[in-house]
Amino acid sequence: MRKKKINKLVLGTNNQGKVREIRKLLPKKIVTYTPKRLKIKSPKETGSSFLKNSMIKAKYFSEKTKEICLADDSGLEIDILGNRPGIYSARWAGNNLNFKKAINKVFKELNKKNVDWNKKIKCRFICALTIYWPNKKYYQSQGIVKGIISTKPKGKNGFGYDPIFIPNGYKITFGQMLFSKKSKIDHRYIAFKKIKRFF
Ligand code: IMP
Repeated sequence: MRKKKINKLVLGTNNQGKVREIRKLLPKKIVTYTPKRLKIKSPKETGSSFLKNSMIKAKYFSEKTKEICLADDSGLEIDILGNRPGIYSARWAGNNLNFKKAINKVFKELNKKNVDWNKKIKCRFICALTIYWPNKKYYQSQGIVKGIISTKPKGKNGFGYDPIFIPNGYKITFGQMLFSKKSKIDHRYIAFKKIKRFF
């Protein structure tokens, strides 16, 4: 384990919803920068898994900035859709990240499968994290939260697919849940717990 704690970090994402959530999970003393502020565009996410894509982003932004970078790649996997949208979760929302459109696509795809809404539509949110140091060392972790798809979008909190995700053990969607609660049970929190020792 590295003895020197991280006190400065580039957050390898241009998604403002994720930036907000990641910042809240990091200790306040850490100074963070976003690629947007540094006027660096995101690389193409050509990996075949969440872990590979978080590595592509962390390495790219670290090499561009010569700073330590923390990148997250996350998304929603739905069993009956063969784990789609999965790594394409952001792409289902189109170029301007319109999640109403992405959620409509989820329901359209589920209807194509003639799903029985009396049965549970099993799914999970996955978060892969990579910390990449300028000396090319890296550390990766992954967090998963299991749940079911809500019969319709509910709640205005959170971002992305939150209005249609009901975590196991709860009756409300992430969109209806207070952030203070969501952030203690979600995939990002679980992945973060595993990298806490670096901060
Ligand atoms: P990417 O990691 O930037 O490729 O994007 C991941 C996408 O997955 C996000 O844009 C959201 O659509 C979705 N996603 C990831 N985490 C969450 C979450 O906590 N709530 C809702 N949607 C999420």
